[in-house]
Amino acid sequence: MKNIRGFLIDLDGVLYVGDKAIKGARESIDLLRDKNYAFRFVSNTTRKSRKTIAEQLSSMGFDIPVEDIFTPPLAAVAYIKKSKKHHCYLLTTGDVYQDFEQECICDNSAAIDYVILGDAGDKVTYENLNRAFRHLMQGADLIALENDRYWMAPDGLSLSAGPFVQALEFATGKKGIIVGKPSRMFFELALCDMGLRTDQVAMIGDDILTDIGGARTLGMQGILVRTGKYRKDTVDNVAIKPDRVIDSIAQLQDIL
Ligand SMILES: [Mg+2]
Repeated sequence: MKNIRGFLIDLDGVLYVGDKAIKGARESIDLLRDKNYAFRFVSNTTRKSRKTIAEQLSSMGFDIPVEDIFTPPLAAVAYIKKSKKHHCYLLTTGDVYQDFEQECICDNSAAIDYVILGDAGDKVTYENLNRAFRHLMQGADLIALENDRYWMAPDGLSLSAGPFVQALEFATGKKGIIVGKPSRMFFELALCDMGLRTDQVAMIGDDILTDIGGARTLGMQGILVRTGKYRKDTVDNVAIKPDRVIDSIAQLQDIL
């Protein structure tokens, strides 16, 4: 790929599905390292802290330092820090709350400034959504960690945060601030860290909208993989066209 010096790489559906590494993924990462390409990982995963993601990658045989993993909480924390408002209601699951501990006050000591909504899995109950709704009606702003429609869980396609972001937007008439892919601020965190311009970078992902669409909007190339949540009919039915489509990240060697 001409002029490409670096890659942004999605995790879920590209390097692994569930706890299984995609065949040839490790070798592709090693190849990028050998060929001196810069690369960072940009994931919309919000069920786990960065530290846990790094540990799970390690258990699947990937040698990826935690600093190279960019997840939406990182962008959310940067946003909250700048705003100097820190009272948050966190609607998430797993241990992702750990990524907010430095910047957010999550108790009832004051009015809530931000409702932070991620892919909250079983925590998406009527009670919790309604609590979020009430905070928003009382003046809080909505930070959406991601706005994806669905993702590929080991047992099948599963609802992501997007449908519930839309539900809260619909109910309150407020627009959420999306901090994960495909938002510019999120991609820019990783681009800045690599010190590369958008025309020097290609994004590799399994989501035609957030990965490929997001990349294309910023002027990056988009490489779609046919693993994870990839569905041919979904891709055929959107206007976004990837620059390349490969069967899996294992095929990266053929297009470098
Ligand atoms: Mg993905």
